[in-house]
Amino acid sequence: MLGPLVAAIDQGTSSTRFLVFNAKTAELLSHHQVEIQQSFPKEGWVEEDPKEILQSVYECMDRTCEKLTQLNIDISNIKAIGVTNQRETTIVWDKETGEPFYNAIVWLDLRTQSTVERLINRTPGRNKNHLKHKTGLPISTYFSAVKLRWLMDNVEEVRRAILSHRALFGTVDSWLIWCLTGGEKSGVHCTDVTNASRTMLFNIHSLDWDPDLCKYFDIPMEILPKVRSSSEIYGLMVSYSCLGDQSAALVGQMCFQDGQAKNTYGTGCFLLRNTGPKPVMSDHGLLTTVAYKLGRDKPACYALEGSVAIAGAVVRWLKDNLGIIQTSTELEKLAAGVGTSYGCYFVPAFSGLYAPYWEPSARGIICGLTQFTNKSHLAFAALEAVCFQTREILDAMNQDSGIPLSQLQVDGGMTSNKLLMQLQADILCIPVVKPSMPETTALGAAMAAGAAEGVSVWSLSPEDLSEVTSEKFEPQINPEGMTTYWLVFRQVVSTFDLVELSDAS
Ligand code: ADP
Repeated sequence: MLGPLVAAIDQGTSSTRFLVFNAKTAELLSHHQVEIQQSFPKEGWVEEDPKEILQSVYECMDRTCEKLTQLNIDISNIKAIGVTNQRETTIVWDKETGEPFYNAIVWLDLRTQSTVERLINRTPGRNKNHLKHKTGLPISTYFSAVKLRWLMDNVEEVRRAILSHRALFGTVDSWLIWCLTGGEKSGVHCTDVTNASRTMLFNIHSLDWDPDLCKYFDIPMEILPKVRSSSEIYGLMVSYSCLGDQSAALVGQMCFQDGQAKNTYGTGCFLLRNTGPKPVMSDHGLLTTVAYKLGRDKPACYALEGSVAIAGAVVRWLKDNLGIIQTSTELEKLAAGVGTSYGCYFVPAFSGLYAPYWEPSARGIICGLTQFTNKSHLAFAALEAVCFQTREILDAMNQDSGIPLSQLQVDGGMTSNKLLMQLQADILCIPVVKPSMPETTALGAAMAAGAAEGVSVWSLSPEDLSEVTSEKFEPQINPEGMTTYWLVFRQVVSTFDLVELSDAS
């Protein structure tokens, strides 16, 4: 007898997955994954089709259920489904027809750069941290409020729908939950505290939408979803949990204690450190965000976050734009063939630089090229770039907390690259630990869903946990040797003439 099952919809930037776990053991029983098309209509713009996103969820659910049936597993044992999603990505749709008014504007999108500059110019002392005391965030193209503002300013249908009270705004979680709970007939329009905390309209202390922030961005509060905890029953058919993808990964990695941290390597790369029940403001360019709130009556838990915009996306760029690899997995072999970047440095600031700089005007650099440099060196430099950017975040985090992290728990699509993991351990000079079950984001969402339904897997014992943890990458080169490479990388980044954020707010 298998007992209850819990499932997760994991809607990421590059793909959608549906995964079903044993609720008691957290064993992954079946899953299916579908790629998502991205479009780049103009330089710096990144869009996805909300209808395609929804369709991909249905397809993944159908195929996973077929696979379970083939395994003689009764799908009626699925007791709860969680949603975890790419955060910040912004959708506005018609509540009467269920039709989106425009494509989803993806978190990486840079079209709001001039809006952001205008907003910062309006603040006293041109301070990008003007709203940080309430939101935990700097004013940046990254967060939803400016994307929503752009839609209101540039898409006539959105403007008209707001005037006629037909418009609903949501991040991808809200869009999916609304559709899956009945859409225009009975759709539940909600989000959770983790996703809300990435909009810049949400007060992370009061845990609610903030009228002053809405006024600041001139956004009507009636189009916003209701904010719920990350683990409760939202509606029939599905959703019993909702967590932004990075929060779900933190839960899936069981980082429930103050000081525990994980880094997820997907399209971007996100290092979150649990800071317990009080929000901690960073003095080193990190974000303060809601990590989770696992139940209506449970306290919220916060995290410091270092976000790197481009990680796996650089692999996609090497594949789609330069054509030097056919698949992401080929990158490891190509880079391992030379085992060095041969003095080549790569800063893939395609979407500006996020933490700790928050500089939207930065752009990518490749330097140190010689006649000898070839595509393998470039591949190696791209992997190093992901690791160096993580080092910048970890250094900022260690400085903020005063307690250096002794090892880093990792997950996400890129962690299947063993060379990357070894490089990361070498560049951070601490061990990197990867769980044997890589789908920690989905596991976190499924666990939170199971908790809402009372069939949770929270109570994993330390023995269970040690089984979950499998591969450990120990640093293999001496830290002094690494320092030289590290300093050169920092020098290359500093060519943007950046000033690190010292908390001016
Ligand atoms: P997301 O949740 O952002 O969609 P995933 O966690 O699914 O991301 O990871 C997908 C990303 O990981 C892609 O950008 C892909 O290029 C990258 N990736 C996948 N496998 C590898 C690999 N073996 N080496 C390097 N990058 C990889």
